[in-house]
Amino acid sequence: MTKKRKKIKLKKAPFIIIIILVLSLVLIISISNKNSSSKNEITENQKNSKVKKSNEKLKELNYINEKLDYFNNDYIDRYLTYKKENPNLPIKKVIINVNIGLDYPYYENSHEAEYLNTSYLLVNKYNYLPENYIPDNLVTIDSIYSNGEKVMVDYAKDAFEKLASTAKNEGYNIYAMSTYRSYNYQVGLYNRYVSEDGKESADTYSARPGYSEHQTGLTVDVYNKEKSYTDFDKTKEYTWMQDNAHKFGFILRYPKDKVSETGYTYESWHYRYVGEEIATYIHEHNISFEEYFVRFLENKNNP
Ligand SMILES: [Zn+2]
Repeated sequence: MTKKRKKIKLKKAPFIIIIILVLSLVLIISISNKNSSSKNEITENQKNSKVKKSNEKLKELNYINEKLDYFNNDYIDRYLTYKKENPNLPIKKVIINVNIGLDYPYYENSHEAEYLNTSYLLVNKYNYLPENYIPDNLVTIDSIYSNGEKVMVDYAKDAFEKLASTAKNEGYNIYAMSTYRSYNYQVGLYNRYVSEDGKESADTYSARPGYSEHQTGLTVDVYNKEKSYTDFDKTKEYTWMQDNAHKFGFILRYPKDKVSETGYTYESWHYRYVGEEIATYIHEHNISFEEYFVRFLENKNNP
């Protein structure tokens, strides 16, 4: 009997060991599961609080993200800071101004311009042209509409000649005084202004090299040959331009009431070709090209 018992005990021993092993394995698995599920819970909680936080931020912005397709989620914190700094600004304007880049000082946080060699290329104190950028298809303006040899991008040149000849037929004299300017030309010009007036002052009226719209070949400074170009707004030609420039695809690029958006003091002589459709919209809605760009062109695949 005792012998038999012993035998059974001996026979059972491996089973007991196996059971113990299995049990400990189950224990280990359940512990590690518990750990990982609590880890999951933590990341889930973090996610929830993040969503909650961004929801609170969107609430602070009156959920305007649902109404504006140019609302940029990456800029939420910049929107909130800018809103705090400009409490009287409508929220839509907060979004537009931050998208333009106005929450940064001029020339800070600037990027290489998109849409090179198009009529809707935006160049300003936040969007610069490469040093070696020379627009395609620069051609010379008919000398009866210019002061010396002036070149522009072909379609802008055609539009300008059409504008100037229409004006002439109606008794107005409009001439191109300055059009395409190369990067290197702007280097000399800017440096001269800085040495004359100091950097701070020069920055208000002259572009730094790469940041000049004249490098696009889409820009024309005009005058009537009787008065200095700086007095262009005292001429009847200026009034004509105000009523008609958009019909030929040109806009007054730096208007009096848009100084804070364009970054330039008022220039009654500086016109920019953007095409008839954009020019007409800007004319009818009295907005800056900067505003038009961030609302209708930026981040669109095929504007
Ligand atoms: Zn100009």
